[in-house]
Parts: sequence; structure tokens; C-alpha cells
Amino acid sequence: MTESDRAFLYQLLNTPSPSGFEAEGQRIWARHVRSFADAVEADSYGNTWATLRGTAADASQRLMLEAHADEIGFMVNYITDDGFLHVNRIGGADPAVMRGRRVHILGSKGVVNGVIGHTAIHLRDRKDEKVPEEHEMFIDIGAADAEAVAARGIRVGHPVVFAESVEEWLPGRLTGRALDNRIGGFILARVLARLAGEPRPEVDVWAVNSVQEEIGGHGAKMVAYRLRPTVAVVLDVTHATDSPGISKARHGHVRLGGGPTVTHGTANHPLVVERILQVAEQEGIPLQHEASSRYTGTDTDDIYVSRGGVPSALVSLPMRYMHSPVETVALEDVEHVIRLLTALARSIRPDDSFRVAV
Ligand SMILES: [Zn+2]
Repeated sequence: MTESDRAFLYQLLNTPSPSGFEAEGQRIWARHVRSFADAVEADSYGNTWATLRGTAADASQRLMLEAHADEIGFMVNYITDDGFLHVNRIGGADPAVMRGRRVHILGSKGVVNGVIGHTAIHLRDRKDEKVPEEHEMFIDIGAADAEAVAARGIRVGHPVVFAESVEEWLPGRLTGRALDNRIGGFILARVLARLAGEPRPEVDVWAVNSVQEEIGGHGAKMVAYRLRPTVAVVLDVTHATDSPGISKARHGHVRLGGGPTVTHGTANHPLVVERILQVAEQEGIPLQHEASSRYTGTDTDDIYVSRGGVPSALVSLPMRYMHSPVETVALEDVEHVIRLLTALARSIRPDDSFRVAV
């Protein structure tokens, strides 16, 4: 990774973008891709896409590469008279990692630092102790009362994220908050930059950075309807199951550093999946396999049913400790995903058919 790539990635990761509040991160992404895309556009909710026009005159295939830009977080739900904040969760934020953490509250006067209070071990009754629910915890911003909270620019409805930033704590191992899934937006930007060089793809390619995935795939629905892709590949993170205590019998086996995964079943169109397998083989890119027997739990579920159906597939980046402040990915997997999606886009021809023969 070049120094400028890394600077862009870190800036993207360190800019809070909880679901529904993605604007600042989207602006950073848009500014970056504008230097090599043919066009960069956004819709009213902040879904943002960069277009690279293909070399073929025939526009009968249009490829959408999609990743979600939002992250999980919390939201101020109640402010006590003595100046503590209670929150509810944005998306699947995990109460098990909340206590004793530093947070940033994105208030109307800028970022306010706080801590999620953690009563000392000496003072807790630990008999039958369970992980408290989010509403049982509280944020301390050092305010004496509710008026002092308001004076700092904080009210009900302001979003909150963990204060953790990104760190490469071992060469090739990146850890931080919000790698799910802003690393996806970073990867799509790198893919588009490579496609803007030679050889250009024959078909038009959209790199889409969509909003509100963590609360239900809403941005993906809007953008798939608007852009009318004829083929779509979604990039998200997936659970690496190679750390202790995870049942492979239940959750499958995905290794960190083992290469991107491709998912089979449900939203994943067999001919698009087959193309991904072919491209990976030609390029010598390691692939891992995942099964989806009911749904994928990603934007793919919303994109493939758009309009008359969009042949789609899900490619995922293995991640340990998802939805925690220590989300961890391997940079060799990141490079393999970039190479895979770049080669896939170049492989698509205007006369390709992704149609199940009946
Ligand atoms: Zn997530």
C-alpha cells in the first residue's frame, strides 16, 4: 500500500459515519474518487457513486460494485438531570464491548469526548453478573447537570462512536473501529483507480458507497433502483472463524489471510459466482467459500431483488472481532480483493449473459 493510499484509508476510517450520519465520510470518499472517475454523483440520502465509462459502444451490461459506507454506533436517547447520557444502539452495536470505553459524541458544536462509565470491580456485586444492556450503561462527559450537557451542544438524537482509531499493530494486520465496512469503500476506490488505467473495462462500472446498511440495506435499495445495473457485486466483511471459541461446525471455516470469500446460494447468482471463480483461478487469487442457505445479511439481499432481479454476488473480506473496536483485517486479503474485483470488471463483455437457462 502506498503512503497516499494509507493516508486516504486512515482518514476514511477515522471519520465517524454511523448509519444515518454518513455525510462527512462520503465527502472524503467523493473527493478522492473524483481524481480518476468520469463522474461522481450522490442522491438525497448520501449514497455516493463514481462512474467509469467502458470502452464498448454497447451499454447492454452495466456493472455495479457496491460497498456500504456506514458503521454501527450509538445514539443519545435520554439525558439525566445530573448530566449523564443514556444511549440506544445504531445497528448491531455490541453491549459486551461498551463498558469502560472512551467515546466521541457528534454534537452540534463538534465532537465531545466522553467515557462509558464502568463501576469499579470493588464496588460491583459480581454474583450472577451479566453483560448489562445498553440502556443500563451511561456516558459521562464531565457535565454537572442536564443544562451543562446542552451547553456543550448535545441533545437527544446525536450519534456516538467509540473513540478508537485505526492502527497497523503488526505488519499487514489492521485494527480499528469501522473497518466494517469503510475498508470496502477504500477497496472500491482502489479498484476504480486501477480500472481507470489500462486496460479500461469494456462495460460501464459504478463503484457505489452506500448508506444505512447496518440498519437494513436501505441505501442499497435506493441505489440499485436508481442505477439499474445489469450485474452487481457486493463487497462486505465476513467473519473469520479462526480465533478461539468459534464453532466451525456452526459458522463455517474462514481464515484471516486466506483470501476473499465468495458466497454460494440465495442472492448469489450462479453464473456471476462462476465468473468470480474463473477470474480468481486465472489471476491466481486464493478464494474461500461460504454458504448462504437463507440470506446473506448484506446489501446483496436488497440489490438482487431490485426491479426484475439483478444477477448479483457477494465477495467478502475476512475480519476478526466484527462490531467491536478491535475489528481486524489482513492487508494481503485487501490486496487480493482489489485484484479480484479489478480483473472481474475487466472480464465482463457487453454480450455476456447472466441468465439461468430454462
Ligand atoms: Zn456490520
